[in-house]
Amino acid sequence: MNWNLARRAEKMNPSVIREILKVTERPGIISFAGGLPSPKTFPVAEFAEACARVLKDDGPGALQYAASEGYGPLREMVAAQLPWSVDPQQVLITTGSQQGLDLVAKVLIDEGSRVLVETPTYLGALQAFMPMEPKVVGVDSDDEGIVVDDLPRKAGSGADKARFLYLLPNFQNPTGRTMTEARRAALSARAAELGVPIAEDNPYGDLWFDAPPAAPLTARNPDGCVYLGSFSKVLAPGLRLGFIVAPKALHPKLLQAKQAADLHSPGFNQRMVAEVMKDGFLDRHVPTIRALYKSQRDAMLAALSREMKGLDVQWNTPAGGMFLWARLPEGMDAVQLLPHAVERNVAFVPGAAFYAQDGDARTLRLSFVTASVDEINTGVAALAAAIREQLARQTPQRLAA
Ligand code: PMP
Repeated sequence: MNWNLARRAEKMNPSVIREILKVTERPGIISFAGGLPSPKTFPVAEFAEACARVLKDDGPGALQYAASEGYGPLREMVAAQLPWSVDPQQVLITTGSQQGLDLVAKVLIDEGSRVLVETPTYLGALQAFMPMEPKVVGVDSDDEGIVVDDLPRKAGSGADKARFLYLLPNFQNPTGRTMTEARRAALSARAAELGVPIAEDNPYGDLWFDAPPAAPLTARNPDGCVYLGSFSKVLAPGLRLGFIVAPKALHPKLLQAKQAADLHSPGFNQRMVAEVMKDGFLDRHVPTIRALYKSQRDAMLAALSREMKGLDVQWNTPAGGMFLWARLPEGMDAVQLLPHAVERNVAFVPGAAFYAQDGDARTLRLSFVTASVDEINTGVAALAAAIREQLARQTPQRLAA
């Protein structure tokens, strides 16, 4: 059979990260590549209890089809925990925030629509947007996120006005960076002035180490923003539960897109999450995740300082989340380095994959949460050895050139 694929199917690409993750499944590899939360943080016992209670209290209800909007008590809990006034009616429970990105793309992007993203940005968002055939435009970004003065140049106008600006204000994936209060205020004001809506993705916001980040951009302009949240990083990603908080103008369309996609997110899982969360569990649980991830970040920072001595490798100090962003010495390419690192049993994600345009070949993303402290020490030493080996290999070529 000769299958004629839809044009949008041609735009679907395997995630570079998933391809790399296949390599990292090899036994013995220390992986800084995946975006996997530490399994030590999964509240298995609490879910075992909640599962039994949900089935005992209303098993048939939990196993029946359910409302597309989501389980009422869970929508109320989501609305109540957000730091601005949210009506539970605005909350749409999604099958992970990844589905939120897919729904936003379906509802807001036409073929050729301008969509603005940070430089670099979350690869999974690009994957969700691309089948809608947008024109994705990277807005200049620095250590604090979007450079506000670049926005007017990229916003477009008339029919080419950007449909939305997608951003991650907290402990960004891939860079780990966070937008300051001043930057948020300036960006929020400028986006409103230009009439550019914001899609704010915040799966990592609760995972701060020393102080909570500034309020979400959505809190400043709820009508001009659609907000995406997730239970993956504070409870467990296997639940596949997240949420959208949408303004009235958008909510019904997102709901219709969701109905077409999967009718509703698993009602059983939603009830379990509501059961686990009902007595303020997250207030006790999330601090334990923060403490663990902070100790792992510190271990990685110490290992980098120790092992990269004398090498012109730069890295940042994320104030939360799961990722650290590094930059190799001039002339090096992270894609070329990867197989040599893998030979030494350590893996990372080359940063170029995360750019909408003109990726920086020297960058790489390191996750500090999946490996243990011992593995972090061994893995960073192996990475430094691979970099030294590559540099030694390159130097004669450079001299000859
Ligand atoms: N947004 C960002 C920035 C992410 O890093 C991830 C997970 N890697 C997601 C969304 C999707 O998360 P989930 O679907 O598990 O909520």
